[in-house]
Amino acid sequence: MKRTIRDLSIRDKRLLVRVDFNVPLGDDGSITNDRRIRAGLPNIRYALEEGASLVLMTHLGRPNGTPQPRLMLDRVAARFRELLDGPAVFKCDQVVGSEAMGMAEQLTSGQILLLENLRFDAREKEGDEEFARMLAAMGEFYVNDAFATCHRRHASVHTVPLQFEAGKRVIGLLVEKECAALSEVLEDPAEPLVVVMGGAKVSDKLDVLVSLADRADRILVGGAMAYSFLKAQGRKVGDSKVQDDQIKELENLPAAITDKLMLPQDHVIAHKPKGSAERKTVEGDIPDDWLGMDLGPRSIELFSTEIRKAKTVIWNGPMGVFEEAPFRDGTQAIAQAIAQVEADTIVGGGETIEALEQFGLVDQITHLSTGGGAFLEFLANGSLPALEVIEDKEAIATPSTSTRRSP
Ligand code: ADP
Ligand code: MG
Repeated sequence: MKRTIRDLSIRDKRLLVRVDFNVPLGDDGSITNDRRIRAGLPNIRYALEEGASLVLMTHLGRPNGTPQPRLMLDRVAARFRELLDGPAVFKCDQVVGSEAMGMAEQLTSGQILLLENLRFDAREKEGDEEFARMLAAMGEFYVNDAFATCHRRHASVHTVPLQFEAGKRVIGLLVEKECAALSEVLEDPAEPLVVVMGGAKVSDKLDVLVSLADRADRILVGGAMAYSFLKAQGRKVGDSKVQDDQIKELENLPAAITDKLMLPQDHVIAHKPKGSAERKTVEGDIPDDWLGMDLGPRSIELFSTEIRKAKTVIWNGPMGVFEEAPFRDGTQAIAQAIAQVEADTIVGGGETIEALEQFGLVDQITHLSTGGGAFLEFLANGSLPALEVIEDKEAIATPSTSTRRSP
């Protein structure tokens, strides 16, 4: 267990808090979904109630080291203020510098400063030390509550905490909750454990499958991923999306996976990857010039039956091109089966959660991860680079239990 914000005395202290307010934006730059901001609120409310002041840092989008008006944090600050409803939230136009430092120093207990988009400075992604020192100077303690960024070695999650003494860097309440939920399914899942994987790329997800294979009772693979698996088994997949560089590895999967693996047996196929294109349902092989776009009805039934037997379900990756209405059924049916089963259900991934939101099922999931890449990497490795620089609880004696040296 990592040390958390609860292990610190933070009254009248200034905390430097890494949050993940990297929300999706519409074409006009408006926030299309504020789930990640809301997920950061419990940690922030806790810190304010304990009498701290906060300097918040986050990234937004991919500005690649140069400021972009569209990715400035003003709208994020406005939505955050609205959601927090009360406490003073100041927004700074600098990431680091004398203006940022000056504003940070003027904060009083209960006030918040939001720094400008970290990725406006190329040094963030480089994990630069001088940049990290400037950020670190703005707080007396460091709190990482940006779970979705914890698989990176960027300055704000990796180099900055290293500028603080051991014991002065901790995780926040969101990271604590994510780690607890994911560790539990890794260490002691209620059985049977059913793993449901889909989405775009085999290469992103094979490590997770391999790591979960021993513990899983069933592995269901759908989405575009499934066509690479089927091709490796010698099936015809037409023009379906396939990762040819993964086929060799898929031909030699460990028995721990193949023994439990179920692939789609029928498919909704189309001539083009468009909802308006001609489409039909086929059993088995996919003819030339056709693309697999979704699970067919028999596969939906097969997968749903397995999910209904589960006591734990881990799901990542849509079962089809759910963004186009004619190819939504597979993802929706699997989402419904997962929402309805009496089991611990753990779901992560950007598009997967977008699909759940579209279907109105988010409230019926036990743990919805805010991470995509971080979610997968935690499940594959049981840890994340940014967590490794934070001490375990046992590593630091708390003041009440430590033996004080006599003067
Ligand atoms: P997540 O973000 O949840 O981890 P991914 O990014 O791996 O999921 O994949 C999501 C994308 O996979 C979706 O945009 C979806 O359209 C696409 N997808 C799913 N099935 C197919 C398919 N059969 N062919 C092409 N793309 C697919
Ligand atoms: Mg995705």
